[in-house]
Amino acid sequence: HRVVEDALAGERRCPPYDMLELLRAAADVCEALGDIAGALARTRQAQARYEELVGHSARARYIALQVGHELTHARSERDSAQRNLQRMAELNRALEAKIAETELLHAQLREQALRDPLTGLHNRRYLFEIGPGLIELARRNGTPLCVALIDLDHFKSLNDDHGHQAGDYVLQYFARVLGSGLRRSDVVCRHGGEEFVVLMPEVSIGAAADTMERLLQALRAEPLRHGHRQLPPCAFSAGLAEFPEQGDTLEQLLSRADRALYRAKDAGRARIERAISGHATFT
Ligand code: GH3
Ligand code: MG
Ligand code: MG
Repeated sequence: HRVVEDALAGERRCPPYDMLELLRAAADVCEALGDIAGALARTRQAQARYEELVGHSARARYIALQVGHELTHARSERDSAQRNLQRMAELNRALEAKIAETELLHAQLREQALRDPLTGLHNRRYLFEIGPGLIELARRNGTPLCVALIDLDHFKSLNDDHGHQAGDYVLQYFARVLGSGLRRSDVVCRHGGEEFVVLMPEVSIGAAADTMERLLQALRAEPLRHGHRQLPPCAFSAGLAEFPEQGDTLEQLLSRADRALYRAKDAGRARIERAISGHATFT
């Protein structure tokens, strides 16, 4: 009995389960020695210690459960945030691709709206979009800009004698002649029908006349065939007007070039005429 009492006194700071075992052993010893009151007291102490331990462990289990639950919740939130981020990144990529596609389509549509489908040259709409800006640039730089209005000669006869397709073929061929025989900075447009307009920035009327003459001679010298048929030699007439000498808007310059073209036709075709200098009156 004393041994157990000593052990209990010396082991106050022993681990809780060891303490519980000691108290039970003490109760057994008391009982064996006939100390019923001591045995009861030790049993009660053991019971109290037991309940204390069970209480601690239940609370610990409850806290552990709570922590576990919160951890699961946090994990699921983290996973869902990650999934959302991934989804957002996917949506972002899809959106960017759509925007790029739309921009490309928009550019293609715009390009189509500004081109003549038969020749691939720019059209009249493009001419009026780009012309005023080029004239403004020439004004600011103090440089000339020449406008050439070109009209194929006797084109109706070509259509009548050789068919509309032959006419189309000549239009396409002439578009290539213009495209390859002019500067990259020149703007070549199909004005409509068999009429073409060229804007030549930084080119004086004299230089433009030389260029047009060269193109005319090249066109006349080239024998054209369409299918099995030999086509008659093609030619054009052109009227030239220069900024700022003969006008300071695109409309004025075109009007002056048109009058010069009329003179070229009147004088027998296959020739280049320059607008008369000075722009006192415009029509
Ligand atoms: P001029 O020397 O006075 O300019 O005579 P022209 O016959 O060239 O002029 P006119 O205005 O009498 O005829 C132009 C012709 O151009 C009539 C039209 O059928 C033809 N034409 C206009 N656009 C096209 C086209 O896209 N394809 C073809 N094949 N012909 C066209
Ligand atoms: Mg015409
Ligand atoms: Mg014509």
